[in-house]
Amino acid sequence: MKYDVIIIGAGPGGIFAAYELIRLDAGLKVAVFEAGHALDKRHCPIDGDKIKNCINCKSCSIMSGFGGAGAFSDGKYNITNDFGGTLYEYIGKKQALDLMKYVDEINLRYGGEGTKLYTTAGSRFKTLCIQNDLHLLDASVRHLGTDINYIVLENLYADLKDKVDFYFDTPVQTVKHDDGLYKIVCADGIYECPKCIISVGRSGSKWMENICKELNIPTKSNRVDIGVRVELPAAVFAHLTDELYESKIVYRTEKYGDKVRTFCMNPKGAVVNENTNGIITVNGHSYEDPAKQTENTNFALLVAKHFSEPFKDSNGYGESIARLSNMLGGGVIVQRFGDLIRGRRSTHSRIQEAFITPTLSATPGDLSLVLPKRILDGIIEMIYALDKVAPGTANEDTLLYGVEVKFYNMEVEVDNKLECRYKDLYIIGDGSGITHSLSHASASGVHVARNIVNG
Ligand SMILES: Cc1cc2nc3c(=O)[nH]c(=O)nc-3n(C[C@H](O)[C@H](O)[C@H](O)COP(=O)(O)OP(=O)(O)OC[C@H]3O[C@@H](n4cnc5c(N)ncnc54)[C@H](O)[C@@H]3O)c2cc1C
Repeated sequence: MKYDVIIIGAGPGGIFAAYELIRLDAGLKVAVFEAGHALDKRHCPIDGDKIKNCINCKSCSIMSGFGGAGAFSDGKYNITNDFGGTLYEYIGKKQALDLMKYVDEINLRYGGEGTKLYTTAGSRFKTLCIQNDLHLLDASVRHLGTDINYIVLENLYADLKDKVDFYFDTPVQTVKHDDGLYKIVCADGIYECPKCIISVGRSGSKWMENICKELNIPTKSNRVDIGVRVELPAAVFAHLTDELYESKIVYRTEKYGDKVRTFCMNPKGAVVNENTNGIITVNGHSYEDPAKQTENTNFALLVAKHFSEPFKDSNGYGESIARLSNMLGGGVIVQRFGDLIRGRRSTHSRIQEAFITPTLSATPGDLSLVLPKRILDGIIEMIYALDKVAPGTANEDTLLYGVEVKFYNMEVEVDNKLECRYKDLYIIGDGSGITHSLSHASASGVHVARNIVNG
């Protein structure tokens, strides 16, 4: 079977690439290969009742399938060059922002209309933060919410399904380059195309690494972010989240000079498990629909760890720490901040006696047995710093779930078209190591589609 363009991965990067290709040239024959299920077949078996913990499904419905890792996410589209990836380094700041705004317009047209756009511009919290040695990053954020995000994906699929061939539950085994054609090798056969877009996200990081080795595509990798997910009563951060929804706050620790930052803030949200290549870590999301909201807010506190030569396996380092928590807790560990400070583990009874109800059923334990001292010290310092702008953060009952790890795909060498050293082979989204967010991944998809059609 031959196509004009084959896209590997149906996450935001792949979907927006397909959308833009067809919009610009309806005659193009485009196929999308996706390892996971179609959107309506995606279902995580954890129900908190019969199945409490991750059972390592063959294809993780949280990470894979139409919509990619973003399908059940909070649908926070951050329109900024300050975080979420370094796409602007390749295509320029203005173009990156324009593409993110374009993606936002499409999201609104496909079901997101009426959702709120928050902005830090002119916010009084910038001053409050800086007065307390905290730094609030600039951004506009469209919060679709998990429910509306899903509707947008449903509508995009309904529009694309008759114009693009989707192959679900079809992991691509390998990509071969032969006589100007790309051969996309799957279990059921080989598909050919002159132009190929790889958008395999974080769940495809190992696969991407292998492809780069096989095709001899240069890569670099040396960063991993490690930390915890904090859960506290929504009232503690309400003054910030009501105005900004998500605040990205950075703090430099006194002890080591490390940077600790808040990440992925979910007002009135829920903490969830995340399975990356069989390793259980923690994440969070929240719904736009008030009926589905909780009384808690959660966000991650992450410490960026950059390694220098000769050590190269930063993701391996992060995985080992996550494995340690999985070994001790059978999955994610939860600990009260008060217990951590007293140097004792949390127990079921201590969690039950707390004035906060956890939204994730995790194993009570001791995070100091899992996280390296330097990282844990940084997180504790940051919690006390945040307590100055959001009193109650350093409360005894504040819950810390561990570990949260942000794995960064190794950065693949691409040019300003996001084309690698092979002509017409484009590597985009989180799989390229260049983006780490819905908006940047989607924007990268639009960018390559325009380059393919317009040259
Ligand atoms: C729980 C959760 C919440 C999140 N919340 C937010 C948020 O609010 N805001 C935000 O900006 N970001 C959020 N993120 C991150 C965001 O989802 C990602 O940055 C984004 O989805 C990246 O898009 P992508 O298309 O590059 O990759 P992905 O979305 O990861 O999509 C890649 C797709 O490729 C498929 N694939 C992988 N390997 C193969 C193969 N060999 N063959 C075929 N298919 C393959 C995968 O199954 C997957 O569906 C969240 C992530 C999670 C897990």
